[in-house]
Amino acid sequence: MKIPLTAHGREDRMYWIHDKKGTYSVRSGYKLVMADSFKHSHTTIESFWNKIWRYKILAKVRNLIWRASLNVLPTTDQLRAKRVDVDSHCPVCLMHEESVLHVFVPCEFAEKVWETVGVASSPLLAANFKDSLTATLKNHHQDQEIIAMLCWVIWMNRNETVLNTKSFTVLKVVTIAKNFLQQWQDANQPPSKPAANSNRPELVKWKPPTTSSLKLNIDAAIFEDQGKAGLGLVIRND
Ligand SMILES: [Zn+2]
Repeated sequence: MKIPLTAHGREDRMYWIHDKKGTYSVRSGYKLVMADSFKHSHTTIESFWNKIWRYKILAKVRNLIWRASLNVLPTTDQLRAKRVDVDSHCPVCLMHEESVLHVFVPCEFAEKVWETVGVASSPLLAANFKDSLTATLKNHHQDQEIIAMLCWVIWMNRNETVLNTKSFTVLKVVTIAKNFLQQWQDANQPPSKPAANSNRPELVKWKPPTTSSLKLNIDAAIFEDQGKAGLGLVIRND
């Protein structure tokens, strides 16, 4: 109401703000959309890929997450799309059509795995694995390595079922994932810095006892696997 209006009384008209003359054109509309999607792809999408490659985890696990996010794992829906004659059912639950998203999120087996480790996945909101992972990591950012590791073992279980008709239990999947991650982390810890001279423990040197007394030095060890123990002692005078 406070905008001063021109004295020359003009009709209101539509004005397209992205054109100097205020006239809409497909060209200006297209430019606007492209500029928007460019901005989007350089913030959200690129940072998603960067995040994956920064996971402190086995390279083959990072690679699996990357392939799953690109939807290029050989699941039965992908094979059928390429006209390979395979049963479309998920080989693990035998209930639904297998897709990358299905294997890792709504498949009954995967659901139980996530439930066991207390990770809430959001299958209903996601259209693909990448969206689902993004949504899950929003709430479980600090668990990204174990989540990636679990995906890898879920995929390993799926392949075992298809190729060797063996399958793991949910607990076995969780145990394998945790152990693999722990071993990898232990093996990849940065080497501890050499202690400064002042922190070095003092060298203990043997000193003879005082005259007319004896000194006893003793050490023992237990060999559990052989059911044996060893004991050594040395008694010396001055
Ligand atoms: Zn399934």
